[in-house]
Amino acid sequence: MSAVSSHTSTQSSGNNLDPWYGNYAARTAGLAASEVRALFAVASRPEVVSLAGGMPAVSALPQELVTESFNRVMAERGSVALQYGSGQGVPRLREQILDVMAMEGIRASADDVVITTGSQHALELVSKLFLDPGDAVLAEGPTYLTAIVIFKSFQADVFHVRSDEHGMIPESLREEIARLKGLGKRLKLLYMIPSFQNPGGVTLTWERRLEILEIARDNGILVLEDNPYGLLHFDTPPPPAMRSVEEDGVIYLGTFSKTFAPGFRVGWAVAPHAIREKLILANEAAILSPSSFSQLVISEYLETVDWRAQVDRFRGVYRERKEAMISALQEYLPELSWTDPQGGFYVWLTLPPYLDSKKMLPRAVKELVAYTPGTAFFADGGGHDNIRLSFCYPTPEMIRVGVRRLQTVISGETDL
Ligand code: PMP
Repeated sequence: MSAVSSHTSTQSSGNNLDPWYGNYAARTAGLAASEVRALFAVASRPEVVSLAGGMPAVSALPQELVTESFNRVMAERGSVALQYGSGQGVPRLREQILDVMAMEGIRASADDVVITTGSQHALELVSKLFLDPGDAVLAEGPTYLTAIVIFKSFQADVFHVRSDEHGMIPESLREEIARLKGLGKRLKLLYMIPSFQNPGGVTLTWERRLEILEIARDNGILVLEDNPYGLLHFDTPPPPAMRSVEEDGVIYLGTFSKTFAPGFRVGWAVAPHAIREKLILANEAAILSPSSFSQLVISEYLETVDWRAQVDRFRGVYRERKEAMISALQEYLPELSWTDPQGGFYVWLTLPPYLDSKKMLPRAVKELVAYTPGTAFFADGGGHDNIRLSFCYPTPEMIRVGVRRLQTVISGETDL
């Protein structure tokens, strides 16, 4: 009953109107719609500059190329595209994914790849395979908001490991593992976003990648490497993926959402052999097979379009937007500090400690700018004086307008 009563306290009074309220599984306690989510509905109005979401700039993708792939698939393989497929995914696409991953140093065989409905779905499947109530998941602090939601939905406890501008701090990981072991916790997963992290915008150095892999190996903890942004560097590529040095102790997640388009909902997992078999079974149990149509269109696109040149185009778009955001921050909010990402979608802003970014959000929306409060990225209430700013979607001009509005909001709360 305790989970149900915490459900009561975390959800709005609207729940009293739900006649099934008492019937939900205890694991749904974390699925409460937050006030932030409600504000985002307001923030989607066109007059609001949203620096909140992580939507890729699909306008930078020549749509006629997608349409051509789409038409060819329907003309040549329509009956396959419209049918159920293999629970592991289309073999040809799994082969092509090897070329994508090779760009980050990963060697694998097509047999190792399991296609999922976006990497979000792979996070769910891995959690389903490994997490029992009370298990511990270690993650960077801050970490990806929706991964926290998934881990909690399996009633796992998320513990953050301190990170700095070079990513997770190995010494802090050692300390946290020792502390949790002392408490008798079962440490199941070490969730990492090593390159252009969401939300921190930081990249784990090569030395730290190696050290963290060694710590995980020594302690028998499976690493879950989530890498949606690794190919989206602005100038120099990030260090090779953690999976490139460790095959047996790492589950690697990739996606076409940021390098192609999220609407297809195609991602993948590469897992050690035994885990991969279970992943396929879990995939089949959840969805029977990933979308044949989406997979074939992506496969056709990779085959017939210079997709590497398109990834370069995306990089150029995001580099320009990142530069617009950093220069607007320098101009309008020079007293604050922020991360300067070398790729990906996000800047992590630090406010004076007496400010509360969540409390400030309604005022920001009134000033027609939206952001994500830092608390969303911590399972333990941290991040009240942080903000995640996304530069991926708005144009450089709108980013400047948004940061100027943010300055109005912040200066209204402080004497900045
Ligand atoms: N992991 C991270 C770190 C992300 O930022 C995202 C998307 N915002 C995802 C996973 C999910 O991506 P998708 O399901 O579209 O592949």
